[in-house]
Amino acid sequence: IIKEKLKSEKSFSKNYILGKNLGKGAFAEVKLAFNRMSGNPYAVKIIDTSKINEHKRLLLNFDVEKSILGRVKHPSIIKIHAIYYESSYFYVILDLAKGGELFDRIVEQGHFTENETRIIMLQLLLAINYLHFQGIVHRDIKPENILLSEYEGYNVKLADFGLAKIVGETSFMKTLCGTPMYVAPEVIKSYGKKVYSNKVDMWSLGVVLYICLYGFPPFSDDLAPPSLNQQIVQGIFTFPEENTNIVSREAKEFVSSMLTVDPEQRISAKEALNNPWLRAYKEGSAWKI
Ligand code: ADP
Ligand code: MG
Repeated sequence: IIKEKLKSEKSFSKNYILGKNLGKGAFAEVKLAFNRMSGNPYAVKIIDTSKINEHKRLLLNFDVEKSILGRVKHPSIIKIHAIYYESSYFYVILDLAKGGELFDRIVEQGHFTENETRIIMLQLLLAINYLHFQGIVHRDIKPENILLSEYEGYNVKLADFGLAKIVGETSFMKTLCGTPMYVAPEVIKSYGKKVYSNKVDMWSLGVVLYICLYGFPPFSDDLAPPSLNQQIVQGIFTFPEENTNIVSREAKEFVSSMLTVDPEQRISAKEALNNPWLRAYKEGSAWKI
């Protein structure tokens, strides 16, 4: 059955022409790909299965069958169109997000206005609420995994889950050599054991919200001591008051409701969708569909 779903051998290269690189991870490369029939552009995530162990390979097959092809359908989530298996590589055909990573847009603009941030957050919360309702936890929400549909506007799409969560590693795994900037306190406290609560996504989203508003992260090694892990576990962060960037009290309260150390007390996606700041959309903002 899996074989059928993964299409026949060799058909990726028969059906697509590869283009430039779009991004890279530990086990995966993402490239532009054009469908030979339609000429339409897609992103293709190429996963080298020779680099992953047998156990993970089995899980990957299972996951492909169980969920990925079709179950997750949401306007703010990157859609998987097809998966090919060809000489030990998986080729995952995805919606192309032409605007690239939210991360790069933040760097470009310095930070977003409250209205721009609100539009981004609304879409992300709708997507995360949808995933949580289906019992799916993303586990790796950060600006590198939030993509923009177009070069202009703020239409966002959540990327990198499902396959990636099995084959690749989440930010927590990367903490061994990298930074846990987006990782919830309960994940750090559990020393790498899997934390199943979907509240971990809400913490990471709180970090993303903060970065959208200020242009820099709430927790960072630059501020140490206390260490980054200590800052997160104790929920130590500040809202810097700068004349050039005044953030409203309501927006800050929304950040705090997500960056709450106790996952039980932390706001859920469903609750967050009712937040008054989120709903205080102003006319004439950057909303473009
Ligand atoms: P990894 O598991 O390696 O982190 P991702 O799915 O996050 O893989 O993809 C890595 C990078 O590739 C992303 O951060 C982004 O820059 C780029 N990328 C991924 N998917 C797409 C897409 N659908 N459209 C455009 N760029 C993408
Ligand atoms: Mg990623």
